[in-house]
Amino acid sequence: MGRRHGEIMNIVERLKEFGEVYTDVPLKHCTTLRLGGEAAMMLHVSSLTALFSAHQYLLSKQIPYKVIGKGSNLLCSDDRYEGCIIRLDRKVHHHYVINESVWVEAGASVVSLAFALAKVHLAGFEWASGIPATMGGAIANNAGAYHQCMADHISEVLVSTPKGLLTLSKEECKFSYRDSIFHHQPDWVILAAKLTFSKGNYRDIMDLIKLRQQRRMSSQPLEFPSAGSTFRNFEDLSAWKCIEEAGCKGLRVGGAQVSLKHSNFLVNVDDASAMDMLQLIEEVKSKVLATCGRELILEVERFNWNKKMQ
Ligand SMILES: Cc1cc2nc3c(=O)[nH]c(=O)nc-3n(C[C@H](O)[C@H](O)[C@H](O)COP(=O)(O)OP(=O)(O)OC[C@H]3O[C@@H](n4cnc5c(N)ncnc54)[C@H](O)[C@@H]3O)c2cc1C
Repeated sequence: MGRRHGEIMNIVERLKEFGEVYTDVPLKHCTTLRLGGEAAMMLHVSSLTALFSAHQYLLSKQIPYKVIGKGSNLLCSDDRYEGCIIRLDRKVHHHYVINESVWVEAGASVVSLAFALAKVHLAGFEWASGIPATMGGAIANNAGAYHQCMADHISEVLVSTPKGLLTLSKEECKFSYRDSIFHHQPDWVILAAKLTFSKGNYRDIMDLIKLRQQRRMSSQPLEFPSAGSTFRNFEDLSAWKCIEEAGCKGLRVGGAQVSLKHSNFLVNVDDASAMDMLQLIEEVKSKVLATCGRELILEVERFNWNKKMQ
């Protein structure tokens, strides 16, 4: 059963101390798949301290919450979410360069950081220049491309936990393929991180960024809403190859379709519902299992699906 209106309004009044608060916000506006039902509350925190304090407040009142970065790896259900979405990208996005290290707040855009580093002649982050993520989401997912990943740069991560502030070393973050400790500690919020790069030449860095971006533009269906690669690659085989072999290229359920350009991108071509997308995912999985004998694993994270649909 949903929270009572009065109860929500009391929480909203308190949350206003920490930033801008909105009610009944469609999650399709904050996910790159452009899918999802409404969230009862959305808080855009006004500073790093506000983020920490809001997190501690929500924990103390046992109010459900979820941090959403750019929402570029989320498949939100069509259901209403009776909790608070925390967003960081409006105000918690600063970074500070000290020699070859950078302290960056969790709401910073990965793409903007890649360009900012180029300007100060720091190399190594070119691979990330096309990933539509915030630093918090990229760290939690250990995002990666071209055989590099976030773990290659992280030296420390500052985290808000139910016991207060924690600073984790890279080892303590337990990074692995598209995973980290943060997925196993849902009550933790990444506040900021220290990353390390190497000195480089501005022209070389920009040339590599351009190359990476051209490759993405030529191989990915960026004209449609998506969450990037839907399934994990196998150690010895790309997921898109299995999907094509199973005859799923172009397969469609409602407004959701297996991209004609890149078979591991499931795209929202015509006002899809989250249920369309989930049914398409299930269909692709069963066809791949039947044809290739391989079990595809979702890379995209499902959020706010009731237990029966998990
Ligand atoms: C066109 C396109 C291309 C893509 N290319 C790549 C690619 O090359 N490589 C790759 O790895 N991924 C890629 N992705 C997927 C996606 O961008 C990454 O998974 C990214 O890391 C998600 O970041 P986000 O900020 O959008 O996180 P979200 O999708 O908003 O959230 C992801 C998870 O991180 C958690 N989270 C977010 N912020 C915090 C925080 N501050 N503290 C704790 N938890 C937090 C969320 O709660 C959620 O569980 C692509 C996606 C698209 C749409």
